[in-house]
Amino acid sequence: MKPTEGDGAGTPPDPGNRSQDRYCRQSLLPEIGTEGQHRLNDSRVVIVGLGAMGSSAANFLVRAGIGQVVLIDRDLVELHNLQRQILYTEEDINRPKAVSAAEILGKINSSVAVEAHTKDLNVSNAEKFLVGADVILDGTDNLQTRFLINDVCVKHHIPWIYAGAVGTSGMVMPILPGSTPCFRCLIPSLPAPGMLPTCDIAGVLNTIPGLIASLECTLAYEILTGRFEARNETAYLVHIDAWRQTFDRMAVRRRADCPCCGEGQLDFLDAVSREMITSLCGRDAIQITPAAPMEIPLEELEVRLKPLGEVKFTPYMLTFRSGTDELSIFRDGRVIIKGTKDEAAARSLYARYIGL
Ligand SMILES: [Zn+2]
Repeated sequence: MKPTEGDGAGTPPDPGNRSQDRYCRQSLLPEIGTEGQHRLNDSRVVIVGLGAMGSSAANFLVRAGIGQVVLIDRDLVELHNLQRQILYTEEDINRPKAVSAAEILGKINSSVAVEAHTKDLNVSNAEKFLVGADVILDGTDNLQTRFLINDVCVKHHIPWIYAGAVGTSGMVMPILPGSTPCFRCLIPSLPAPGMLPTCDIAGVLNTIPGLIASLECTLAYEILTGRFEARNETAYLVHIDAWRQTFDRMAVRRRADCPCCGEGQLDFLDAVSREMITSLCGRDAIQITPAAPMEIPLEELEVRLKPLGEVKFTPYMLTFRSGTDELSIFRDGRVIIKGTKDEAAARSLYARYIGL
């Protein structure tokens, strides 16, 4: 589109009112059509996490004309994010991701209402942020938040799309409570801490989050236009390896004994004992205590963290130092993060290195 196209002399261009021009290549598709485009324009989509997957997804949703896009992320932009997180530039370093993302997205499509929240999604705010969404997209970096999203979505019947990418591969699974298996049908409970690969430990190829986000958004368009349920297919999960160019679709079955959609337990939303994040008085440090008792296999964590920094191991504790980050990790899951008073930053480091 030419940069200055007003409706008449002296009338400033209003891209928001020229939706026919803006979305014509999309509404031409029989899969979407004019009616489908109207549905997209009337939709509200929440993206939880604005890393590589979340920022790619936000870019697609805003360009596609989703009416309201809600962005939730607790982190600041760091230099090593720029390799793959497409909404940020060097000027955004140390700025909140949600704020930087909303700024650029507003320039891409000013007719979309973009809401930015620099917040950690947790039990105290999850329903407030998620209820009212037509679809929720996963851009998170940890399983605990995914279990929480799943609980809210099963409780309120909100479709969501699980997505994850690490190394050279990634996964996507559409979850429509009531019609498909839920996330806990796939993964019934949290694995041992420190056992899951994270991008900070295993690295990530910068093309895979984009591939996964492309599929996530396509599924969102299908759900929002009513085409997904019309397909009436068996539930599935898609696995892509970008380096090997493999693309597999695996059937996922609903578990009759699923604690969430089967037995109705919303363990992560109704958690009585919650993860505790406490500032350690006078110590410029934050302590994170997990909600449930757990045991971290420190010997295995030591092996995984060694390539990333300096690791000191005692039978009871692992001390890990990388750049300005310093973590003391105890067997019971408790972690002290030194050098910060910011709870969200501490929670990020916990997710990054412990992987929950
Ligand atoms: Zn389930």
